[in-house]
Amino acid sequence: MSDALLLAMLVAAIAIGWWLGRRESGRHPRPLQRRQSSLPRDYFVGLNYLLNEQPDRAIETFTQALEVNSDTIETHIALGNLYRSRGEADRAVRIHQNLLARPTLTAVQSGQVQLELSRDFLNLGLLDRAERLLLMLQKANVDDEQKVAAKRLLVDLFQQEKEWEQALDIAQSLIRSDADIQRSAAHWQCELALEHRRAASPSLARKALRQALAIDDRCVRANWILGQIEWDIGHYRNAIRYWQRILDQDAGFAPLVLAPLRDAYRLLDDDAGWWRFLEAQLQHDPQTTVVIMAADALRQRQGTEMACAFVSEQLRGQPSLRGVDFLMDLYLEDSDPGERDRLELLKQHTHQLLGARPRYRCQRCGFGAEQLHWQCPRCHSWGTSKPVTGLEGE
Ligand SMILES: [Zn+2]
Repeated sequence: MSDALLLAMLVAAIAIGWWLGRRESGRHPRPLQRRQSSLPRDYFVGLNYLLNEQPDRAIETFTQALEVNSDTIETHIALGNLYRSRGEADRAVRIHQNLLARPTLTAVQSGQVQLELSRDFLNLGLLDRAERLLLMLQKANVDDEQKVAAKRLLVDLFQQEKEWEQALDIAQSLIRSDADIQRSAAHWQCELALEHRRAASPSLARKALRQALAIDDRCVRANWILGQIEWDIGHYRNAIRYWQRILDQDAGFAPLVLAPLRDAYRLLDDDAGWWRFLEAQLQHDPQTTVVIMAADALRQRQGTEMACAFVSEQLRGQPSLRGVDFLMDLYLEDSDPGERDRLELLKQHTHQLLGARPRYRCQRCGFGAEQLHWQCPRCHSWGTSKPVTGLEGE
């Protein structure tokens, strides 16, 4: 049993003991000395099971020892939650449903039980039942905090169902006060835009993406897709404009956008424009990706030797593994057979080192991946993964 679960169960056991003791002392007022022993036998049996790491029998015994009344509602809710956290959400449903049938519940207690019951249903994958209950809570006479908690659960549920419009609808009132919801909502608009793009409705897609940027002007993904839509129809100049905006939003995304930018300039046959852009980037933010792209352009214009000198100079100011790897590629082009063997051996090492490092990493949970995930597969946060830059990255 985990420490947290044991602690939760001990707290519940203490609560049960306190209530049972209070009930007994209420019935038979006795001196303090004797009040301790007035706890029913069931309580000690339950505690014994708990301490012997038999939580199933402990919970069963505690549940039997408790009568449901206004004093024990909180404890029953906690017991239900305990079952859920142990992976027995069906038993949690029974306890919470049993509570809900009590006519004596106050509005706040009823709201609390319904919230927990929704969590049980979500846990069991009964999304329809959770949704119905949570939507009812939106209209019910419960306090604002419970309504917000129900909204958040609904948002999670609609995300699981990929019902982006419904998620946006429910989250509307939370967007301004919650940065996470704000960032996520912009991504839901991006998801809608992708659906429109797949359905060959670029104007609807553009509209959704403009809304994404209105919700969160830092949404890199909106400009990324806007650029792709322009690319689809051969408007490369517009694609360049959108992708360059990404660098103003977050320069850390250069490793994502530089290759498509280069390809767009190529298709426009605009080498001079590409070079001007690279020069501006080198002045402004000489990241490794920019240095590699610039060196490649330089190699084509002025030869390998110039490119090598340029990369060496840049690496002095900003060392990086990928930069060294690229420099070795350049050396390999001009090397004689003896040098080539040694360089290739070195290159194996840099290759291994680079291969062991992910290109993208979630800023929230640290999940690393070769591909960019707009929603982190581990922590499910939207827009928290970014290219890895610096010494070991791009
Ligand atoms: Zn994550």
